[in-house]
Amino acid sequence: MSQELNSVADQVSPQEWEARVALAATYRLMALTGIFDLTYNHLSARVPGQEDAYLIKGEQQLFREVTASSLVKYDFAGKRLLDSPYSISAGGQVIHGGVLQGRPDLQAVFHTHTPANMALSVLKVGLLPITQHAVRFYGHLAYHDFDGFEFDVAGRDRILASLSNKQFLVMRNHGVLIGGRTIPEAYVEHHHFEYAARAQLSALQAAGGVEGIIIPPEEVSLHAANQIRGRGVITEKNRDWPALIRWLDEVSPEYKT
Ligand SMILES: [Zn+2]
Repeated sequence: MSQELNSVADQVSPQEWEARVALAATYRLMALTGIFDLTYNHLSARVPGQEDAYLIKGEQQLFREVTASSLVKYDFAGKRLLDSPYSISAGGQVIHGGVLQGRPDLQAVFHTHTPANMALSVLKVGLLPITQHAVRFYGHLAYHDFDGFEFDVAGRDRILASLSNKQFLVMRNHGVLIGGRTIPEAYVEHHHFEYAARAQLSALQAAGGVEGIIIPPEEVSLHAANQIRGRGVITEKNRDWPALIRWLDEVSPEYKT
């Protein structure tokens, strides 16, 4: 059981509470779908109406334990803004605080290590546009070379420089960073990246290398990517989100406490 916490619903704005519930939902959904790296990895979101503050899981918790009230609130200088038994260390502040500070267009930043996205991150060919799940990232994905653990705030600038104006970042020999213009968008795009990575790894193994793989022409990949981007921002109205919440309400309803 996670530590019993008093609800912070009466200490935050209705908009912040809504964001807390949505972000807690994404942690629980990832836990339910097998995204699990002990207490590591974070999903974060900017506090609505408070542009220089963000919500993130405390380092002491597993994804499956996160609730709306257990999320911790930090500013970009590393100050915790609401009393909590939980905290984060430098890594979370560098990656999440750094990207949310440097990219005001992004409202959510998800960073995970999964066996699939770590394996994809070491491939010299990167993510190939060989499935419907992969082509949506075509032209929107950047790469960041491994330069050690993110223990130093100076790492913020290097990550932002690699990300440039893109929304998604393969962190070489490390994992992936998914930016979202909304929390549901970060979740859905993370799902697509994960499936794209798994499919590519399976295809490479089955084909015995890149030579045996059909890669669509560049204009087709561009067209398909534009088709997806043309549909606009993924919000809580996207059909996947209410379906996911229905599932979560049934099997893990404590996320919204
Ligand atoms: Zn990491």
